[in-house]
Amino acid sequence: MRLRCPHCNHIARIRTSRRLSELTIEQTVQCINVDCCHTWVAITSAVRTIAPSINPNPKVFIARGGRTKSPDENQGALTFNTS
Ligand SMILES: [Zn+2]
Repeated sequence: MRLRCPHCNHIARIRTSRRLSELTIEQTVQCINVDCCHTWVAITSAVRTIAPSINPNPKVFIARGGRTKSPDENQGALTFNTS
């Protein structure tokens, strides 16, 4: 999995990870841009199923769902008045 640094948008590496639950992993991520070197903690969670497992874990339930709408497609999105 590739992550981008929120500061410089350069590629970042996952340095460590630990499982918080069946569905959630906490990761320490480090930007590989030597002029930035930002290090942060990220959370990765399974939020919906696109195609079900052929060997499902009986302890895990992840609801089926389609893709999330982008902000441009979301009719209820917040709008900001810049005037
Ligand atoms: Zn960076």
